[in-house]
Amino acid sequence: MRAMVIRPGVAGSASVAELEGPVGEGDVLVDGLAVGICGTDVEIAGGAYGTAPPGAEFLVLGHESLGRVVAAPHDSGLSVGDLVVGIVRRPDPVPCPPCGMGAWDMCRNGGYTERGIKGLHGYGAEQWRVEAGFAVRVDPALGSLAVLLEPASVVAKAWDHIERILARAPLSPKRVLVTGAGPIGLLAALLATQRGFDVHVLDLVTDGPKPELAAALGASYHSGAVVDVPEPDIVLECTGAPSVVLDVIEHNAPAGVVCLTGVSSGGRELPVDAGAVNRRLVLQNDVVFGSVNANRAHYDAAAYALSAADPVWLSGLITRRVPLESWADGLQQQPDDVKVVVDLG
Ligand code: BGC
Repeated sequence: MRAMVIRPGVAGSASVAELEGPVGEGDVLVDGLAVGICGTDVEIAGGAYGTAPPGAEFLVLGHESLGRVVAAPHDSGLSVGDLVVGIVRRPDPVPCPPCGMGAWDMCRNGGYTERGIKGLHGYGAEQWRVEAGFAVRVDPALGSLAVLLEPASVVAKAWDHIERILARAPLSPKRVLVTGAGPIGLLAALLATQRGFDVHVLDLVTDGPKPELAAALGASYHSGAVVDVPEPDIVLECTGAPSVVLDVIEHNAPAGVVCLTGVSSGGRELPVDAGAVNRRLVLQNDVVFGSVNANRAHYDAAAYALSAADPVWLSGLITRRVPLESWADGLQQQPDDVKVVVDLG
């Protein structure tokens, strides 16, 4: 049984390993069909992030999963042949209050684990196991597009929290700015258009699939500076680029909500007038918050959003497929990449 493996902390260690038996623990056995590659995988493969399971020297990568059930307990709600996506995070064992309530995406003690990222093998394998409670059955009509469920769940969580914050006052928000037209940004824009907002997407590139994908949603596409976009009521910052992060914090409408989803690498310093930033945030009742990961309810919301989307548009997000044997090629970003998927089956 082959799997995509890396050695945590060792750049350039991506390889295909022959392992015994399915990867991971759980009562549901799954044939792996595909995994998506994201910036987190690139960071892990570059040696900057990621931890192997205790006692293991390698980590099976892959947290954006899709597979087909081979065997499942009768009372699991799953049947042989179902398409499933494995949830990424497992609650910390203490557990902290949110983890104890199924809100592992809000873990408060950092003791959580994540498949393919932190302390647990991932789903980048020809066969894997998962606990029934962490397998999400997906609409068979979505087919191979369901590999987008995990990134969509991250966006569904961001929107869930934005909506909770907006509920603090009768604000009637209309305009949304999404910075970064990668998979997370474009999925954030999809969920924004599904909510009826006037959506603006900003990215550096001026050609290739990104402007077309934004336009196909009915969103306005910008490639200039943040300040050139009309003031947004809501921002989903999906680049993690420090200067863009500062720009969106400083450029939004009064009572603006800025959701930061990009994980920056750190190490770059920028001059900031902290007093002016604070003054603006306070006088405008702005909220700036971070959002990561997703719980089961967010996977369900994401499944609904993907089912309601145009499948032709969704398939346009997957710009490159690589076979398992050369999966490491998927880590090399090419100019027109949006989402790269590794075919496991
Ligand atoms: C994953 C999240 C995860 C985060 C931090 C992201 O790429 O989509 O599920 O929580 O990385 O490890």
